[in-house]
Amino acid sequence: MRIIRDPRCLARALAQQKKRGLRIGFVPTMGALHAGHRSLIRRARQENDCVVVSIFVNPLQFAPHEDLKKYPRSPRQDICLCRESGVNFVFVPVPPALYRPDFSTAVTVKGLSDVLCGRSRPGHFEGVATVVAKLFHIVSPDVAYFGQKDAQQALIIGRMARDLDFGVRIKVLPIVREADGLAMSSRNAYLDSPQRKQAAVLYQSLKAARSLIVKQRVYRPAVIIGRMRSVIRRSSGARIDYIAIVSADDLTPVRKIRGKCLIAVAAWFGTTRLIDNIVVTSSV
Ligand code: AMP
Repeated sequence: MRIIRDPRCLARALAQQKKRGLRIGFVPTMGALHAGHRSLIRRARQENDCVVVSIFVNPLQFAPHEDLKKYPRSPRQDICLCRESGVNFVFVPVPPALYRPDFSTAVTVKGLSDVLCGRSRPGHFEGVATVVAKLFHIVSPDVAYFGQKDAQQALIIGRMARDLDFGVRIKVLPIVREADGLAMSSRNAYLDSPQRKQAAVLYQSLKAARSLIVKQRVYRPAVIIGRMRSVIRRSSGARIDYIAIVSADDLTPVRKIRGKCLIAVAAWFGTTRLIDNIVVTSSV
C-alpha cells in the first residue's frame, strides 16, 4: 500500500495502473474511519483491481462556526484499517495541496443542495461537490463508492458526475449501524455517555415511521413526522433540526408516501448534529 500526499504524484501513479488496464475503485472519506467506511472499502476491493481511499478533512465544506478544527482525526488507525482492507493507495493531501491561496472556483448542484441539510448548512454541499470534483479529476476512478448515510450528498455527487460528464459510476451502499441502531459516524465520538444512549432515538423514530407506513398504512407525511417528533422528544433531550419526507430520487417534498421516499432526520445532541435516514417504497 502506498501513502501519497501529492496530487500530481497520485495522478501519475494511477495513470500507470490505467495503462495496464486496471479498474480503479475510489472511496473518498474525511478519515476517523469506522465500519461504515470499511464496508465501502470492502466493496471497492471486491469490484476493482486497484482501490484508492482519500482521507481529507475538507475545509471548504465547513462553515466558520462549525467543527473543522475539532473534527475527529485518527491517522494511524486509518492507515492500519486501509492496509488491513487491501487498499492500494491512500491519498492524504494537506489543504494547500488542493487549494491555492487564490482558489476561486466552485461546483454548485442547484436545487438538490438547498434543501434538508443544505438549509441548515448553507454552502456545505458546494464545498462537498467542489472537493469531490477535484478528487475525481485527480483519481479518475471507474467507480466511486458513497454511503446512504449521507443520502443527500450521494444524490448530489451522482447528479454532478452525470451533469459534468465525469464518466465515473457512483455506487451507494447501505448504512452500517451500531448494535442499538445508531448510524455509525465519525461525529459519534463527540457524544458523552448519556447523549450516546439517547442518540439511538433517531433510528427508533425512523423505525416507528416505517412501522406506521407498512403496518398501519399511514401515508400522510404530516402524521408520520408527528409520530417521529414524539418518539424523539419522549426519550431524549435532542433538538430536532429537521424531519423530512421527500422523493428519494430528487428530494422534492411528497404529499403522500408513494414510490420511493426518503425519510430523513437531523438532530442536535448537545453540540453534536447527527443525521439518519431510511428509504421506504410504497406502491399505493
Ligand atoms: P465521511 O468520512 O463521513 O465523509 O464519510 C465518507 C463516506 O463514508 C461517505 O460516502 C459516507 O456516506 C460514508 N459513510 C459514513 N458513515 C457511514 C455508515 N454508517 N454507513 C455507510 N457509509 C457511511
